Order: sequence, then structure tokens, then C-alpha cells
Amino acid sequence: MTQNAIEIAGLQKTYRGGRNEPEKHALKGVDLSIPAGSIFGLLGPNGAGKSTMINIMAGLVTKTAGSVRIWGFDQDENPRQSRAAIGVMPQELNLDPFFTPRAALEVQAGLYGVPKSQRQSDEILAMVGLSDKAEAYARTLSGGMRRRLLLGKALVHHPQILVLDEPTAGVDIELRQMLWANIRKLNAERGMTIILTTHYLEEAEEMCDEIAIINHGEMVARDSTANLLGQIDSKCMVIDPVETPVRLPELAGVDVAQRDSGALALTYQAGATSAEDVLRAVRDAGIAIADVKTEQADLEDVFLKLTKSS
Ligand code: ADP
Ligand code: MG
Repeated sequence: MTQNAIEIAGLQKTYRGGRNEPEKHALKGVDLSIPAGSIFGLLGPNGAGKSTMINIMAGLVTKTAGSVRIWGFDQDENPRQSRAAIGVMPQELNLDPFFTPRAALEVQAGLYGVPKSQRQSDEILAMVGLSDKAEAYARTLSGGMRRRLLLGKALVHHPQILVLDEPTAGVDIELRQMLWANIRKLNAERGMTIILTTHYLEEAEEMCDEIAIINHGEMVARDSTANLLGQIDSKCMVIDPVETPVRLPELAGVDVAQRDSGALALTYQAGATSAEDVLRAVRDAGIAIADVKTEQADLEDVFLKLTKSS
């Protein structure tokens, strides 16, 4: 048993460019460890490098540099064991259209060398709600059913780590709730480590114990969800000045931005700085206040702040 389900150090990926395209540094030296038994969220805007990272963990994309340990096994030294420890539900719905769900699970089990006696195709089909579709061709399945089948495929070899790449992007509420219920159950009952990427922040907030935020191939934050949410303690005071300010307010712990409207947005931690301190800093800068209002920051703001500054 290892403390960390995943240990990544100095991970780099450079995709070779096309004929008229430069090469692409999708990962620029990422370090990350993910505790065993957690539900871990990997967040980041489109193109940040999330899928690249997950596909490297899964052994689907070869890394350019760095090391990856899965369940204690170095990916290069023990490729078979490290692959066996991880199951991946990919972002794209890449299913063979001519396989039935049961056949798809059996073939996947075969690929992973799961002996017939240890296969649980029927249990898995029941779990993902596809028992009555067991013999239907994949091409007749709805998008939601395909996604559930992909979850089933990720589970056939009983991995300790389940990775879900944008599992609920473009998925209706009912299916989303079913997926989350399944995932919580796998985590609670089997102690399965869950790693998911999402760009739904509330989802990460609700589901994940810990979160890493990645942007342009670099890690910009890595903390418990509670601590990241603690940053939401940040408040934003928006001041309309009577005249265009000659100088901006300056106060430690207060981030000042000038909006296109001419308003000043002052972001601060409510726990560390009082509204009165902020107002005083505004007046000390010689600014007369025409109007003032406050805005509540949320994880979206933290996310934007972190991904903008990098
Ligand atoms: P995310 O999953 O966070 O949206 P990706 O890992 O898919 O990000 O992509 C990271 C970057 O690498 C993007 O700029 C993307 O265009 C590029 N990229 C991804 N896959 C390939 C590939 N096979 N060939 C070239 N560039 C790629
Ligand atoms: Mg992706």
C-alpha cells in the first residue's frame, strides 16, 4: 500500500508540430502527488494540458521527460503493473460501433488479462445501468449510454485508481447525478482513488477533497478544496471615482484593478483586511467616491485570478 496513488515529477510533454505548426509544450515540468483514497480534481481551461497529463498516466501518450509512478510502480520500470492499477474513462466517446456493451467489457477484460473467472461484466453493466442494453450494438446507444459504457470499461480490470476525463461535459443532469453517485460509491465502498478533470467548478467544489489547477502546462495551484475555497474569503469592492484617479490606492493585501468603465475593483481577504481599511486607502489616494458596491468572489474568481496571472 502506498501513501500516494500517483507521484509525478518534472513531467514534460512536447507535441511535435505539423507542417506549418510549431511544436507544442503541453506540459512544462509538472510535479504532482495524489493521495490514495482521495477524490482529486484536475481543473484548468481548455488546452491547459489536463488530457495530456491523464493520458500519460494511463500510458496512452508517451511523455517527453519526467517520471510517473502509479500505485508505487514506476511507469518505465514496471509498465504492466502501473497500467493495471489505473482505469481511464476518456474524454472522447471512442467505442467500437459493432460491439455490444457486454462484448465491449469482455474484450477490454481480455486486453487486461483478466481471467474469465474474475470477470464481472454483468455486475458492471448493472452498476452503470446498462443491463437491458447488454446485447444492443454500441451504435444504437445514446450518448449518455455510451458514456456509462466507457465508465464500465474503465472498471473491468479492478483498478485501484479511476481517472475520468471531463466525465460530465455535455451530459444531462440525470446522467451526471448517476455518474457522481457511482463515483462516490466506488470511492467510499472500495476506497478507489478517483481523479477527474472538469471545468465545472461547482462540481469540483462538491466532489473533490483536493484540487490542482493547471494552466498552459503549468501547475498554478494545488490545495485542499477547503483551502482553495478559503481564498473565496476574498471580497471585491468596486468604487466609482468622481474623477479619474491620479494615483491608485495602495495597501498590502489589496489587489487593485482598473476596469474599462473607470471603476476601481479592490480585491481583498475579508479575514485580513476590513472594508474600512480599503475605503481609507482609497481616500488616502485622494480619490473621491461617487459610488461603492461590493461583489462576492467565488471559485470562478480564484480560478480566473490564478489562470490569468500565469
Ligand atoms: P486539455 O485537456 O486541458 O484541454 P490537452 O491536454 O488536450 O488540454 O491539450 C494541451 C495542449 O496540447 C493544447 O494546446 C493542445 O492543442 C495540444 N495537443 C493536445 N494533443 C495534441 C496532439 N496530439 N498533437 C499536437 N498537439 C496536441
Ligand atoms: Mg481535455
